Amino acid sequence: MGEVCGRCGRGQVAVVRRYSGERLCRACFLETFERRVYRTITKYDMLREDDRIAVALSGGKDSLSLLKVLAKIERRFPRAELVAVTVDEGIGGYREEALDYARRACEELGIEQVVVSFDELYGLSMDEVVRDGYLDELGLGPCTVCGVMRRRAIEIGAMKANATVIATAHTLDDIVQTYLMNILRGDLNHHLLGVRREGEGVIPRVSPFRLTPQWEVILYAYYNGIPMQEVECPYGHASQRFLIRSFLTEFEERFPGSLYAALMAIEGRLLSSQAVKEGAAGGGRCRFCGSPTFREVCRSCELIAQISGIRAERVRRALGGIEGLLAKARSA
Ligand code: SF4
Ligand code: ZN
Repeated sequence: MGEVCGRCGRGQVAVVRRYSGERLCRACFLETFERRVYRTITKYDMLREDDRIAVALSGGKDSLSLLKVLAKIERRFPRAELVAVTVDEGIGGYREEALDYARRACEELGIEQVVVSFDELYGLSMDEVVRDGYLDELGLGPCTVCGVMRRRAIEIGAMKANATVIATAHTLDDIVQTYLMNILRGDLNHHLLGVRREGEGVIPRVSPFRLTPQWEVILYAYYNGIPMQEVECPYGHASQRFLIRSFLTEFEERFPGSLYAALMAIEGRLLSSQAVKEGAAGGGRCRFCGSPTFREVCRSCELIAQISGIRAERVRRALGGIEGLLAKARSA
């Protein structure tokens, strides 16, 4: 008989949380995992008892796990409802598999699913953004553009679904990565990420996994038989996030608990800063979409306007070319 679980004293140890020293059997890992998600929701007051919660469901293991946990938690709140919002970015050879997983998960759990696509919303797939030179004109990487377009697409999907809140599967790792990326850009966010902030014209977003390390979500997915996508996004390796993720993953591996310590340190600073107080009191709002922002127009609206501008300019040039040809033909 091997070592027994430090929590129940019965099961065999299957998981070791090095950051806390816990040595748990599989059942206790799953139970404490779900309990932590529930506690995170209550700690940050993320959800209301009568919320219609739109889960941003990409079909990857993180969002499928989130859907599963929330479906369990939601049973305790009969007035709350779950709906899934899935975005098809139009990345050939990559998205099809996850879209299929997302659809099947909703069918199995009996959850309504709203699917929106870049093509339908912007008239442009992510493959076209990359292939047709938009990235060079914008001077941006694929993930930056994809991230902004997807964020807006999720909002639109959530509005279609009449949701009152959006739940995303960002983990502790994702949140710390984003803070670090912001610091490296010289722009530390003015508010806590993944925590409910009400505002006119925008559906609040919450991240119930914000205190859960990525590896635990992967393990939760594995123990629950959640399918893992085999193909990786062909554009992901070019991103800043990819570099920061690699660094942080290795750092956490060597110094367990660093991610959580970083989150607490950054958020401690943020909470005491003037910017957060102003943000909590409302701050500014985007002139177009009403999202909280410290600029006149938020980054999403700005980028989407730039993309539309590039498209319009291309159409104008193409029409100009056709007119020129016609004029030549007439004068010949
Ligand atoms: Fe979009 Fe980048 Fe994610 Fe690919 S890796 S889906 S381009 S954000
Ligand atoms: Zn905006």
